[in-house]
Amino acid sequence: KANRKFHPQDTVVTVPAKGGDILIGAGHFTLIAGPCSVESERQITEVARRVGAAGAKVLRGGAFKPRTSPYAFQGMGADGLQLLGMAKQDTGMPIISEVMDKSQLPLFENVDIIQVGARNMQNFELLKEVGRQRKPVLLKRGLSSTIEEWLMSAEYIMAGGNDQVILCERGIRTFETATRNTLDISAIPILKQKTHLPVLVDPSHAAGIPWLIEPLSRAAVAAGADGLIIEVHDCPEKALCDGAQSLTPDQFEQIASGLRPFISLM
Ligand code: PEP
Ligand code: MN
Repeated sequence: KANRKFHPQDTVVTVPAKGGDILIGAGHFTLIAGPCSVESERQITEVARRVGAAGAKVLRGGAFKPRTSPYAFQGMGADGLQLLGMAKQDTGMPIISEVMDKSQLPLFENVDIIQVGARNMQNFELLKEVGRQRKPVLLKRGLSSTIEEWLMSAEYIMAGGNDQVILCERGIRTFETATRNTLDISAIPILKQKTHLPVLVDPSHAAGIPWLIEPLSRAAVAAGADGLIIEVHDCPEKALCDGAQSLTPDQFEQIASGLRPFISLM
């Protein structure tokens, strides 16, 4: 179902929004931005307003966080989704958040795009369950997954009847330590050849450092990505998760306006 051979035309993922549907794919470029994790009402509403004003069409915010250490902040859970919902109400922006287990899905009713994180790309039971949903799913590439394995995971979702799948390249594990992960730019044109699904790039988790996010974003756009998902925090140095790679709203605004000549943001 994901194979372009049997479905030559690009899939457009449709996200319902107050001001009119947001389209992702087939030449419709979408900027998604927001904090790694929802931390407070003030934080999420402030970041939402700022990234929305800068051209982001969808608001991200993690509530269930897959942290390496069990002692690290695990996310606000249901309360985080509640606050994200308030920011949605306030700004009219659709929201995306990561689900880590199928038992959490009932809490995602008001979430517009379900994110399956890198660490769950091959959680097949979770993939089957989001395949039963009738809303868009953003499927991140696994930490050490091949493009073929990634497409098979998309296939799991589509096999359940959900064809609203967005792929997201977020960098892979290599021997290189200068970046958090290695952004696989060639994955974009390769996916474009193999599948009709929209391809997004997450330069934040690939880079791991703020100043690299702009050049990686430009490279992603040049390579044909259908959008970007970028971490933005009102005060990165105080962030409870991924502050080291988070942009300030001002930095995000600058990157978004630099990209504007190349894409139709508004
Ligand atoms: C995230 O988006 O905050 C995240 C945990 O991403 P990934 O699954 O790509 O590591
Ligand atoms: Mn993060």
